[in-house]
Amino acid sequence: MSETQNYDVVVVGGGPAGSTVGALLAKAGHRVLILERERFPRYHIGESLVTGMTPLMEELGLVEQLDARYRHKTGISLRWGKDPQPWRSDFSAAGTDYDHAWHVTRSDFDELMLDNARKLGAEVREEAHVTEILQDESGTVTGVVYTHEGRTHRVSSRYVADASGQSRTVSRRLTETQWQDDLRNVAIWGYYDTYTPLEDEDDILVEAIEGGGWMWGIPLSKSKLSLGYVLSVEKLTEATRQGLSHQEIFAQGLESSIMARTMVDAGVSVPLKSARDWSHLSDRFFGPGWVAVGDAAAFIDPLFSSGVWLGTSGAWLAARALDAALSDPSNEAPALERFEAVYRQLFSDILSYVRFFMEPNRLREEYMERAQQIARVYTRSSRVGFMALVSGIGAVADLVNFDPMGVEGLQEIMVERQKIAAERAAAAAE
Ligand SMILES: Cc1cc2nc3c(=O)[nH]c(=O)nc-3n(C[C@H](O)[C@H](O)[C@H](O)COP(=O)(O)OP(=O)(O)OC[C@H]3O[C@@H](n4cnc5c(N)ncnc54)[C@H](O)[C@@H]3O)c2cc1C
Repeated sequence: MSETQNYDVVVVGGGPAGSTVGALLAKAGHRVLILERERFPRYHIGESLVTGMTPLMEELGLVEQLDARYRHKTGISLRWGKDPQPWRSDFSAAGTDYDHAWHVTRSDFDELMLDNARKLGAEVREEAHVTEILQDESGTVTGVVYTHEGRTHRVSSRYVADASGQSRTVSRRLTETQWQDDLRNVAIWGYYDTYTPLEDEDDILVEAIEGGGWMWGIPLSKSKLSLGYVLSVEKLTEATRQGLSHQEIFAQGLESSIMARTMVDAGVSVPLKSARDWSHLSDRFFGPGWVAVGDAAAFIDPLFSSGVWLGTSGAWLAARALDAALSDPSNEAPALERFEAVYRQLFSDILSYVRFFMEPNRLREEYMERAQQIARVYTRSSRVGFMALVSGIGAVADLVNFDPMGVEGLQEIMVERQKIAAERAAAAAE
């Protein structure tokens, strides 16, 4: 086994969250190694982005390339709730000049992000599979073991950032997972080469399906539509028990839709993919020697296309917290507490709203008003509140201005954390 020392941070996973934390730490002058199991480009789901990501993309110097490569996404066309009429909201409704995001082919987008991390100074090793977490006798994570080209390597670092997506390589071992049983879904999707665009042809389509579940339509290009059906595990299990295949279940969803079925020829069957879509949060996003970002920290149903935004936002916060901790170890506790507090708030805002929205029998105005209450913007318009929340733009000030060593609110955060730790210790003692 070979031994390598002296990385400041080893990042497990080179998806959007891993390449973001790796790029920003390398840019700040730290020695970073990103270990990615696959060779890029590799397929990934999660193709529709939101404008809340744009300030980070500016920070990473990627906006021009994104604009040149990918179809602009201008808003959301919905058919949802009691009112049978479709409705839409565009990004500019949030009241900022971030008027578009992008629909991306993830294999290409993720490669662009990872290459950018390389350019900014991170060392990247692909086809490097992390198999073990190293801990000292106190439980502090001190590095990882990985395999690469048939050999096993051991690498030590001051911090390990878990950005391994749903594999949750570190957080699976070191945290409790809070599975959200009411959001235990499955997604089935495929790609159509020919389709009829929506009236607002650059929008994502989000449509509630009679009898439960919802469909997405993502116009990746003029000749490629990603069409997906999200349904509960119970509904899928019941349909499977009746002998239905994924093709048939997908066809049923399409048949029950009003808008999605106008986009494609239901007679054409395309190869389908499927994935578990079960929302979850880890009870901790950091511990001695490690942090978790992206799906490795938490995952929320993709109703509002928030996954890549949440993952990269957490990575942006983590990079600044780790930078503070690396420059002075006494910063570690407050910086990481602060990272977790801000990051967890992003997840809980989206989670509570997804939960509210999943109730399909409300009026459009009720959905908008609830968003206005949750969104981190002061506005008298529910329309502004809705778009500020679902685009992530409403939380951007918290991200851009994040100061891991700021004092404001820190006392409350520490008290809250101590309370949680005491409750956990009491529960463990019972
Ligand atoms: C059905 C569905 C639809 C979705 N739609 C959207 C959408 O429209 N918009 C959106 O923003 N989000 C969407 N998401 C969510 C989105 O896919 C994720 O939130 C996002 O990819 C998370 O990024 P990440 O970097 O955390 O993880 P990932 O993108 O999964 O990257 C993790 C990387 O870690 C690597 N890895 C894993 N284990 C190891 C290991 N042991 N060693 C080394 N490397 C490892 C993997 O190979 C992978 O490349 C969707 C999710 C689902 C399930």
